[in-house]
Amino acid sequence: MDTNPQLPRIGFIGLGIMGRSMAGHVLAAGHPLCVYNRSRDKADELVGRGARWCDSPGDVAAASDIVITMVGYPADVEQIYLGEGGIVERAAAGTLLVDMTTSSPSLARRIAEAARAKGCAALDAPVSGGDVGAREARLSIMVGGEPADLERARPVLERMGTSIVLQGGPGTGQHTKMCNQIVIASTIVGVTEGLAYARSAGLDPATVLQAIGGGAASGFQLNVLGPRIIAGDFAPGFFIEHFLKDLGIALGEAAQMGLELPGLALARGLYEQMAARGYGRDGTQALIKLYRH
Ligand code: NAP
Repeated sequence: MDTNPQLPRIGFIGLGIMGRSMAGHVLAAGHPLCVYNRSRDKADELVGRGARWCDSPGDVAAASDIVITMVGYPADVEQIYLGEGGIVERAAAGTLLVDMTTSSPSLARRIAEAARAKGCAALDAPVSGGDVGAREARLSIMVGGEPADLERARPVLERMGTSIVLQGGPGTGQHTKMCNQIVIASTIVGVTEGLAYARSAGLDPATVLQAIGGGAASGFQLNVLGPRIIAGDFAPGFFIEHFLKDLGIALGEAAQMGLELPGLALARGLYEQMAARGYGRDGTQALIKLYRH
């Protein structure tokens, strides 16, 4: 695929379920693209389409105008940004760093400070919309940082998402993502229990979904994950182990604010049972396994 050298050079790190689709949209838009992922094979398809492989996150940063990251956990984010030879150390002054991983607000603030000290800028820009939203470039992107930096990133973010909203300074994108995860946590428990009830009542869950999926209960968890639950398709769109990471961040932040969230704590307890049974690499819809009898 031909790239347009007039467009900003993008570096993309983390090519898993979400990142590989997101990076693919950036490449399709004509940006020169360098990529890195912990397991190299996940970059093969993008490299085949014209992306350039780099051997480390630092090498990606040194070759890019805008660096975008979509890794797994806060520990991964900290390592690639703040570790020795990492993104902040290797990026040239003026580089814009955009972390789209779901990570902690306090780490986002630390990265923004470290970036500023190097003459760079950083945004935290986590997303919602799932594997489907990433594939169809319909993500909702929640941004923390400076308005001028968002305007610089916006043309690239628009390749991946349809809603891009600045929430405030560094860390506020991640806080907003926690609001999203808190809503999802109790919703997926409700969807699961509604479908478990349907089965126990002798109803056809598909017919139930047809009826309630268009009413007040409708939404991503019911309408997208409901059919996967009914089909017994537990492949990860969103790993349970990543959801547990998010619930831990949200409960930790809430505790620091003196806020009790019993619904969220209940959802975490249920997902901890799933992880203890070895289902951490299933998708979140696999919660139905707890209700089988
Ligand atoms: P994923 O499939 O595990 O992708 C993460 C990728 O990052 C993996 O390919 C992993 O490499 C790579 N990686 C991790 N640490 C790295 C490092 N230090 N250096 C280089 N690459 C590294 O997970 P995902 O579902 O795409 O999710 C990514 C993030 O988005 C998570 O924080 C998740 O919570 C969040 N999120 C996910 C969804 C969703 O529906 N899936 C929706 C919104 C937000 P390997 O290939 O070696 O594992």
